[in-house]
Amino acid sequence: MTSRVVILGGGTGGTLVANRLRRRFSDEQMAITVVDQDDRHVYQPGLLFVPFGLAHVEDIVRPRSRQLHRGIDFVHRPIEWVDIATQQVHLDGGDTLGYDVLVVASGASLVVEETEGLAGPGWMDKVFTFYTPEGAAALEAALATSDGGRLVVNVIDMPIKCPVAPLEFCFLADWYFHQRGIRDRVQLTYVTPLDGAFTKPVASAHLGGMLAERGIELVTEFNTGQVDGQGGRLVSYDDREVAFDLAVVVPLHGGAAYVGRSPGLGDELNFVPTDERTLQAKAAPNVFVIGDATNVPASKAGSVTHFEGETLVENVARHLGGEPLVEGFDGHANCFIETGYHKAMLIDFNYDQEPVPGHYPGSVGLPLLRQSRLNHLAKLLFQSVYWHGLLPGRDIPAIGAAMPTAGKQQVTTGEE
Ligand SMILES: Cc1cc2nc3c(=O)[nH]c(=O)nc-3n(C[C@H](O)[C@H](O)[C@H](O)COP(=O)(O)OP(=O)(O)OC[C@H]3O[C@@H](n4cnc5c(N)ncnc54)[C@H](O)[C@@H]3O)c2cc1C
Repeated sequence: MTSRVVILGGGTGGTLVANRLRRRFSDEQMAITVVDQDDRHVYQPGLLFVPFGLAHVEDIVRPRSRQLHRGIDFVHRPIEWVDIATQQVHLDGGDTLGYDVLVVASGASLVVEETEGLAGPGWMDKVFTFYTPEGAAALEAALATSDGGRLVVNVIDMPIKCPVAPLEFCFLADWYFHQRGIRDRVQLTYVTPLDGAFTKPVASAHLGGMLAERGIELVTEFNTGQVDGQGGRLVSYDDREVAFDLAVVVPLHGGAAYVGRSPGLGDELNFVPTDERTLQAKAAPNVFVIGDATNVPASKAGSVTHFEGETLVENVARHLGGEPLVEGFDGHANCFIETGYHKAMLIDFNYDQEPVPGHYPGSVGLPLLRQSRLNHLAKLLFQSVYWHGLLPGRDIPAIGAAMPTAGKQQVTTGEE
């Protein structure tokens, strides 16, 4: 009998899972359908470079359907809701798709309207986000005409996709204004709800030190309650204020809205409660979750999504075969942190191991928690690896799903 697997979302996770399943199961064994609301697959890490003119939106977008192997159905329609009880996906327009196994890969979305004033006067004029292609392109134009003033980068709340991206934005902005010869006329401030530059202590100390070295002010424990675009002010819930001439905001994130309309599937933020090791949804044994859509305590990152893919595909196969699931996902994340001046840092960590100095993937390799040109080149190269290795579901040499321990120094303080 042919098993029906429906995958909700054709982004990073949905595409790589569909392609990995197609490589493993014949058309007779498995019918695979991917549903997405649009046909524009954005290489999201590239959005960071757009505001600085280092990439253009058209260079980082490809048709979704073309990233899927032959023998995978692509349904280009918004998902309305999922009925777990009857195993049906309801699409916009009224059609339904029945499934034996459901894979939720619908990512995280930006809930701009949740923050008072954010989408009001000043939005896309003095207040921008680089987390969308439109926002990143508009910000490029705004930065190009800026000749100084107070530039504030603000994370409204966690969790966000790629938690290092706003820090990278700060480092690149420092470099950008240096290159334009007006750095001394720009006051750069990073405003975060966290108690430091980053979540993990060793990396937070390193990154906080780098902000200070670059003359970038760090404002911590700031929970933004209001963005006053016209008046140029961020206002926190405890009535602190940060003034700006130009604000770059990472809006609040939630899961996809249809999750909230699907009884029993999501939590209050529309993320999907998921077993952090097997990636099986808490809602039903035939539902699995990958990437930003989960509530697992790992970073919302493409690297995490990639590393989850192996366990998820194995567990879909085991579920269909009536075998026990593997507790295979260890929370592995790795992120390049672009620091400007043709350099980048790399961090590599999992549920149990915080980012520490050393090398990746072994005692010889890319330097960890240290700026280097090699890391910058690797970050640039990654776009090609994404389209030609990661999305097609190929195993990528030296980038294994389990976090490597060889090469890592066991550090417990911020000192290298
Ligand atoms: C600015 C930026 C920089 C980043 N940099 C990095 C980086 O350097 N390294 C890194 O590892 N990660 C990075 N990321 C994060 C990375 O891109 C995401 O974590 C990754 O794409 C998650 O994959 P996903 O499949 O879970 O979600 P996505 O790739 O976002 O896919 C979700 C899909 O679901 C679809 N969908 C949602 N709702 C519906 C609906 N109702 N109906 C139909 N379809 C729907 C969407 O259209 C989308 O195609 C970055 C992200 C951003 C925004």
